[in-house]
Amino acid sequence: MSTGESPETTALVTIRDLHKSFGDNEVLRGIDLDINEGEVVCIIGASGSGKSTLLRCVNLLEVPTSGTIEAAGHDMTHPDADLDAARADIGMVFQQFNLFSHLSILDNVTIAQRRVYKTSKPEAEAEARRRLAEVGIEGKERSKPSQLSGGQQQRVAIARALAVNPKLMLFDEPTSALDPELVGEVLSVMKGLAAEGMTMLVVTHEMGFAREVADRVVFIDGGVIVEEGTPAEVLTNPKTERAQSFLHRVL
Ligand code: ADP
Ligand code: MG
Repeated sequence: MSTGESPETTALVTIRDLHKSFGDNEVLRGIDLDINEGEVVCIIGASGSGKSTLLRCVNLLEVPTSGTIEAAGHDMTHPDADLDAARADIGMVFQQFNLFSHLSILDNVTIAQRRVYKTSKPEAEAEARRRLAEVGIEGKERSKPSQLSGGQQQRVAIARALAVNPKLMLFDEPTSALDPELVGEVLSVMKGLAAEGMTMLVVTHEMGFAREVADRVVFIDGGVIVEEGTPAEVLTNPKTERAQSFLHRVL
């Protein structure tokens, strides 16, 4: 029980000595990372440094070469892990939205509930409408993704991930494919989620978002964590030359 010495925290993600190679290319070279419940962690780093691979390992879209990952109560690297159950607890949002183009907006948001949880159609649709309203999309239920702007599509993708009540949300450069004027509406939905206490692991080049919303910023270079700390520590006063030179290039 808590002694009052420090706030009680529960790790929702525990990554230990994670390595991932593609052939001879060792992309992740020993990553250790804990994410506590309710924490927002932003991952920054140059293109090709392994950010997407790290995120994709967390829900086993990529199978680690070695190391262990526990996420949202699931032992992801156990050979008998129930990946369907795990992925329902871990929502993911990609750079390229990845909505089903032939399905309506409503069907995009209900499909996981219907398939994974066998939720009844009316119940799934009620939840979908609630989630769509939460991301500011209303009156588009019957539209197809192509009829929406990129910002709207990405907000639908967030609603789709939220519809199964995940405990953890992974975002891989969710605004990188958007026209600049549409970035803000997606970031503002993400800020809202963070404010409600969602645990989030976010790969982003949006340093303003990282500064404002992240509890912790992790800088990755060459497949290792080179620096981590509060936004002020990492973004304002980076200690390593590698982080300094990266930040000079992006800020
Ligand atoms: P980042 O997201 O930081 O830009 P990635 O994790 O996408 O970096 O990629 C890191 C490295 O891993 C790159 O060299 C990339 O070419 C390689 N890589 C990523 N995915 C694959 C894959 N499926 N097969 C082979 N190489 C890959
Ligand atoms: Mg990437």
